[in-house]
Amino acid sequence: MNPSDFVRSCVKKLSAYHVDPVPADVVLDANESSYALPPKLHERLVVLMAGTELNRYPDPDATYLKRAIAKKEGAGEDEILLGNGSDEVIQTLISAVCDPGDKILVMAPTFSMYKQIATYLNVETTEVPLNEKADLDYHEVLGAIDEFEPKIIFIATPNNPTGGNMHRDSMAAIMNFADGLVVIDEAYVDYSDKTAALLYQERPNVAVLKTLSKVGMAAIRLGYMMADKRLIEEVNKTRLPYNINSLTQAVATELLKNWDQLKPIFDKTKKERKRVMTSLCNANGITPNTSDANFIFFKYDGDPEKFFNSLIENGVRIRWFKGNPELNNCFRVTIGRPEENDRFISALEKSTP
Ligand code: PMP
Repeated sequence: MNPSDFVRSCVKKLSAYHVDPVPADVVLDANESSYALPPKLHERLVVLMAGTELNRYPDPDATYLKRAIAKKEGAGEDEILLGNGSDEVIQTLISAVCDPGDKILVMAPTFSMYKQIATYLNVETTEVPLNEKADLDYHEVLGAIDEFEPKIIFIATPNNPTGGNMHRDSMAAIMNFADGLVVIDEAYVDYSDKTAALLYQERPNVAVLKTLSKVGMAAIRLGYMMADKRLIEEVNKTRLPYNINSLTQAVATELLKNWDQLKPIFDKTKKERKRVMTSLCNANGITPNTSDANFIFFKYDGDPEKFFNSLIENGVRIRWFKGNPELNNCFRVTIGRPEENDRFISALEKSTP
């Protein structure tokens, strides 16, 4: 008897989310922020963590945290759903909206968890390739909506891994046409000049996802969705109790109240992005995509394994989409602190012909 046979076949077919980090001095592979918070803010967060009552359950409704998000975003407190990272919000949402056999629609390539989560919920995923500019091919998307009638359409903008914003007219056309829920995933929006965050207030078929993971708070795992309160009220019934722990509630609330203090970090990252972009454009055999995020996606014409290993030998680890048939020659480098970017630029020069 093999106890793994207790598990549903749609789960057995999956591979677990796996990170196999090769050790390196400079790690620019996960779209985290490498910037330290302003020291006084950091100190306040430490004091708040130290004062958290660890023997008590967290506030189940995360009242203060929702209040801080509502104030920062211009949203209603009842228009917010919280998750242990936006991964969890995506899971909660798909399980609340889709029956087994229903479909979701995603772009390709995009963030892998939409499909991964759908698969183990027995929800099918239709993938529509992005066009040659790594943007929405809205004719194809409308055709796929017509044919497959997805319950949810996920649009990440800026998109991961390709980095660019999606065209606003194409997004509007999709929102106008779709009968299903259109989820705009703005995980990287703080590095972009465009947002659709409050669009859900005009369009009840739209929900917006955000996360603190890309702005220096990946460790605390906080993501949220903003949508019409009638949708939030229903989806909230499937959220596990106490999913946002007390430490996260305390830290995130304070961070959101002091959001303005993060803006210099976003500006610095954008400035550094330009510098890294210039070096990528100047490197032989490299074709970078435009980026509105804290990372740059690029293709390398030569042997990808040699290139990746050479970067590692020079102390820098970036993301290689190894083994993915369409992306085997593609890489994604996170924008780090200036000294980390210097290391990357120097490793790049040594690793390209
Ligand atoms: N959406 C997108 C587009 C992402 O790239 C990621 C992280 N890689 C997430 C959501 C999930 O973020 P988290 O669970 O850390 O909030």
